[in-house]
Amino acid sequence: MTDVGWVAVMTLLGLLAGSVLNCVIWRLPLMLNRTENDGLPARFNLFLPRSCCPQCLHTIPFYHNVPLLSWLLLRGRCHRCRASIGLRYPLTELAAALCSGWVAWCWPPGETALALALASWILIALLCIDLDHLLLPDVLTLPLLWLGLLANLSGAVTPLADAVIGAVAGYLSLWGVYWGFLLLTGREGLGYGDFKLLAALGAWCGWQRLPVLVLGASLAGIGLIMLLRLKGKTGRGEAFPFGPCLAAVGWWLIVTPAATW
Ligand SMILES: [Zn+2]
Repeated sequence: MTDVGWVAVMTLLGLLAGSVLNCVIWRLPLMLNRTENDGLPARFNLFLPRSCCPQCLHTIPFYHNVPLLSWLLLRGRCHRCRASIGLRYPLTELAAALCSGWVAWCWPPGETALALALASWILIALLCIDLDHLLLPDVLTLPLLWLGLLANLSGAVTPLADAVIGAVAGYLSLWGVYWGFLLLTGREGLGYGDFKLLAALGAWCGWQRLPVLVLGASLAGIGLIMLLRLKGKTGRGEAFPFGPCLAAVGWWLIVTPAATW
């Protein structure tokens, strides 16, 4: 396959994955936080009930569920009740497509590129869910960790020994920060999901890149806090999601070969 063909195929695959991601980002937190009176159907999972408009509950036909294109053709509104469909949906699809295209640009066709694309999709889901719910579900962080170790069995991204030390060091470093912060201030500065996410990222990129990752994510975190304050979405001393910063910076360090940066 030519380079252009490979990038195009992966971009398209990413676009389809983005559509699935929208479903995961919306449904997974609801599935994990079920209560008796949450108003959801008894059988509520990633597949059932079929995707419907949250406003009028009209089932969305498959031809209105084409990634990106449907949103543009329907001009961001429900076909039946004209309720607005958030810009988040096409943006997630676009992000998944661009991330997958970038993986294909950096890596030759093969299982490493596919594993990196899958890791990119998991990271997008984690980023959005943490932004919305301050939650990094184990069902996403742990498979990301195993996948990283498996991919590095053959040293695809980094030698296996560096990956294992990366996973342990990633977990322990934030665990240390958590306890240090708790003892000094009496407040929780991080969540356990953050430790697991950094462990997973360490399993992918190896321990050597962890300092750059944490520094980059912290700078991104300062930017995110300022942005959220500006929009009035978080106040002083309130919890803010660190996962999106780790996910975004970590993604870049994982998929971009060291020679590029
Ligand atoms: Zn509707």
